Amino acid sequence: MTPPPVDRAAAAKAAVAARRARAEVKHDVAERRRTALDAAEAGWQGDVTAPEATLRVRELLTSIPGIGPTRVARIMDSLGIADSKRVGGLGVRQRAILGDWLSQREAKGRLRSRLVVLAGPTAVGKGTVSTHIREHHPEVLLSISATTRKPRPGEIDGVHYYFVTDEEFDRKIRDRELLEYATVHNSYRYGTPRPPIDAALDKGRSVLLEIDLQGARQVKAVMPEAVLVFLLPPTWEELVRRLIGRGTEDKAEQQRRLETAKIELAAQDEFDVKVVNHDVSEAAQEVVDLMTLPAAQSKAARAHKA
Ligand code: 5GP
Repeated sequence: MTPPPVDRAAAAKAAVAARRARAEVKHDVAERRRTALDAAEAGWQGDVTAPEATLRVRELLTSIPGIGPTRVARIMDSLGIADSKRVGGLGVRQRAILGDWLSQREAKGRLRSRLVVLAGPTAVGKGTVSTHIREHHPEVLLSISATTRKPRPGEIDGVHYYFVTDEEFDRKIRDRELLEYATVHNSYRYGTPRPPIDAALDKGRSVLLEIDLQGARQVKAVMPEAVLVFLLPPTWEELVRRLIGRGTEDKAEQQRRLETAKIELAAQDEFDVKVVNHDVSEAAQEVVDLMTLPAAQSKAARAHKA
């Protein structure tokens, strides 16, 4: 049955008004005038015609500053929300899942520190993420660790690590030159030289440490203002694939590292923030977002994300 012309005109007008109201909600979220969580909760108040209720979840997430469409698709997939779903059309369970995700993200948005520690299981891609940050954010000091292990092909002393002898490592410990140190994978020792970090922090620079779990705990104990980030693989299978695929370790060493990875994964809840490494540049951006950067840099970083 076709509605009479008058009704059709009224319906078209109402549709335009509804679209405009939804656009306003998105705009407010994009301009940080209200949070996405606040908008979602308004959509769950019972009025099914409210603009927040008729807004698609995808559109709500896309309006959050710093989240692009690719990431939104991945987030919705991981939350188990279909692409066409509207905020008001979510069931009780999906509302709880989305609400939790949004409030966690907001808590993350408030975290900022000059000292960020990136840890996570072996082969998760910590090195690739920190290299990406070094290349795109030269204003961040990427700490260079000292280690007693031998250089791998292509690794340069003073760039990737300071390769030192056991005696030299002992001396650094004795002279209190290390902020933290640990024996990793039951084999070699690794430690963070303290003087460059103090100097950078004194100058107002942000510092990134890419270290193991034991080291991260020590840093938090000495410098509680540090933000600890745990980098996660998309799945366990992917982690195993990355470890084997790297081909730099023999079978026994691979097995040892997988054992360590299992223990390390179990510690993820001790961390302030978890970042899933689906895509290197996205994960790197999430880490950089936690750092206090000079205003111009933060603006550049936001523009880069948009
Ligand atoms: P790789 O031998 O693959 O370069 O590094 C092995 C592990 O040592 C990685 O998990 C890495 O994060 C950790 N690591 C590197 N530098 C440090 C450091 O200075 N302190 C601690 N505690 N761990 C480190």
